[in-house]
Amino acid sequence: MTYATQKLDEEKVFKDPVHRYIHVYDQVIWDLIGTSEFQRLRRIKQLGTTYLVFHGAEHSRFNHSLGVYEIVRRIIDDIFKGRPEWDESERLVVLCAALLHDLGHGPFSHAFENVFDLDHEKFTQAILLGDTQINAILTRVSPEFPQHVSDVIAKTYGNKLVVSLISSQIDADRMDYLQRDAYFTGVSYGHFDMERILRVMRPRHNQVVIKESGMHAVEDYIMSRYQMYWQVYFHPVSRSAEVILTKALHRAKELSLSGYQFAYEPHHFKNFFNHSFSLKDYIALDEGIVMMYFQEWMDEEDKILADLCDRFVNRRLFQYIEFDPAKDYRKLVELEQLFKEAGINPEYYLVFDSSSDLPYDFYRPGEEDERVPIHLLMPNDDLRELSRSSDIVQAISGKRRTDHKLYFPQDLLKQDAEINSVKKQILHLLSGKS
Ligand code: CA
Repeated sequence: MTYATQKLDEEKVFKDPVHRYIHVYDQVIWDLIGTSEFQRLRRIKQLGTTYLVFHGAEHSRFNHSLGVYEIVRRIIDDIFKGRPEWDESERLVVLCAALLHDLGHGPFSHAFENVFDLDHEKFTQAILLGDTQINAILTRVSPEFPQHVSDVIAKTYGNKLVVSLISSQIDADRMDYLQRDAYFTGVSYGHFDMERILRVMRPRHNQVVIKESGMHAVEDYIMSRYQMYWQVYFHPVSRSAEVILTKALHRAKELSLSGYQFAYEPHHFKNFFNHSFSLKDYIALDEGIVMMYFQEWMDEEDKILADLCDRFVNRRLFQYIEFDPAKDYRKLVELEQLFKEAGINPEYYLVFDSSSDLPYDFYRPGEEDERVPIHLLMPNDDLRELSRSSDIVQAISGKRRTDHKLYFPQDLLKQDAEINSVKKQILHLLSGKS
C-alpha cells in the first residue's frame, strides 16, 4: 500500500455543529490536519470583523475548511463513486484541495490584503509549494502532487469536474460557508436543503450538474446566498469595523515608514511595511497577534493610531450614510476640506466604501470573470441552464447589486459642535439636509 491509499486503522471523527460529524479515513488527510500551517487556521476567524455585529460569529477558517472537505468527501464517496463519469483516481487530490483551499488567508483577510497589497490565493499556492510541513506531506504522495492540489485550487487543473466541486456557482465551499455562517451568526437566512442537493448532484463531463427534480432546492440555495450577502457579509456595521481596522494598519504603516518611534515596536509587521516579508513572516501572523498590537497601540503617542486601535478593540465604530459616488462626488471634496479645517484627518476619518455582489450569472463568453452556470440534467439527458427553467433565478441572474457608504466618526464631530462652526457645517452636510 502506498501513502496515497493508506487508510487510518480506525476512522477519526470531528464533532461539527453543521454537518454533525466530519469523517477522516485517509492517513494523508489526517497528517495534513496536524500540520502547523493548517492548525494556524484556528486562529483566523471565518468572518473577520462580523463578530462585532453578530456576536456568535467567532468561528474559524479551521471549522470551515473541515466542512468543505466533508461535503466533497460525501459527494465523491456517497454519490459519485462507481459512476462511469467519475474517475476515482482523482479522489485524493480533490479532498486535499477542499481541505486546503483557504490555507493562505491571513488575519482579518480583507483589511490586511488591502493595506499590504497581498493576495491570499498566492499565499495558498506558496504554502502548498514552499518549504512547509504541508508541502512535505503532499510530496510524500508524489513529487507532482503539491502542484496538482495547487492547480485544482487555482482552477487550472485539467479535469474541470474536479475544479467545479470546489469552485463553481454551486460548490462545496459556498455550501459550507452559507450554512456555517448562518449557524454561528444565528440568522434565519442561509439555510437550505443540502441533503437534497447532494442527492441530486451528478458528475457530467467537465462539471457537476443537478438533476431537474432538485431545482427547487437549488433555487433555495441561491436565494440563501443572496440574503446572506446583504444581511451578513455586507452588513454596514461590520464594514465600519473593517474600515477602522484597515485605517489603523494603514496608520501604523505610514508611521513606521516615516521613522516614527513606536513605544511598542511593530516587529511582526516591519517586513510587510517595507515589502521584504518571507513566507515564514506571513505564517507567523494570526488574529491574536494583531489584537495584541492594537491593545498596546491604544497607548501610543500618535493620537490617530491610538484612537483607531481603541475604536477597534472597544467597538467604538464609525457612523455611515448612503453615498452615491457619481452624484455626491463634489460633496465628498467639500467634506474633505471641512474635515481638514476641523482638525480631523480625512484620510483616516472620512472613508468611502463599496460592496457589490452578483448572486448568479449565466455564461457570458469573453467577459471578464466568466462564470460556469449551473446546469440541470433533464429526464432526456439534455442539460439546461438553470435560469431558463427557474423564474426565481432568472429574476436575479446577471444583476449586480452595489451598495456605497461613507463612514465617519460621529462622536468626534459632535464634540464641541455647538461652538465649532466647521463641525456644525460638516454634521449638516452629513445629515443629508443640504
Ligand atoms: Ca472558503
